[in-house]
Amino acid sequence: MGIEEKAGNLGIVTTTLETVVNWGRTNAMWPLLFGLACCAIEMMGAQASNYDLSRFGMELNRASPRQADLMIVAGRVSRKMAPVVRRLYDQMPEPKWVIAMGDCAACGGIFNNYAIVQGVDEVVPVDVYVAGCPPRPEALIDGIMMLHQKVMREKINGKKEAPIRIEHPLVQVK
Ligand code: SF4
Repeated sequence: MGIEEKAGNLGIVTTTLETVVNWGRTNAMWPLLFGLACCAIEMMGAQASNYDLSRFGMELNRASPRQADLMIVAGRVSRKMAPVVRRLYDQMPEPKWVIAMGDCAACGGIFNNYAIVQGVDEVVPVDVYVAGCPPRPEALIDGIMMLHQKVMREKINGKKEAPIRIEHPLVQVK
């Protein structure tokens, strides 16, 4: 947890309520079950046995937004889909977080045209942007780890930090 302190050899650990609450939030995030395009295949890969996202307490994708607290926007968002994405976001209970996975979700990517939203942050507030076309599962997991660190710094009063952008190319695994 990082912020806890041990009181001598008494076996007593002190910490803050915020640390405990945020630790619980990061270790039991429930992503919303939906994908929009090719990036979603890599998201599914991150949840399969090779990458095993459940190591981080995130194996439970929820089909209902009312049971989810993480929206992973995996793929390009069409203008027709944008109101649906917003509605799903609005139906998620607080606190909730959003990852824009891939170039299309972050900025429209290769689809610089009238039919595609030029960045899902036009529609919902984004906490972490993961670059790539598509990002590998390692990149998504990196983004999730960044989100966990961000959540650990959050205050219970709900104030959020600025978004994180992961733009570095990750090492390709053969
Ligand atoms: Fe597909 Fe690339 Fe766009 Fe992802 S970023 S949805 S892989 S075109």
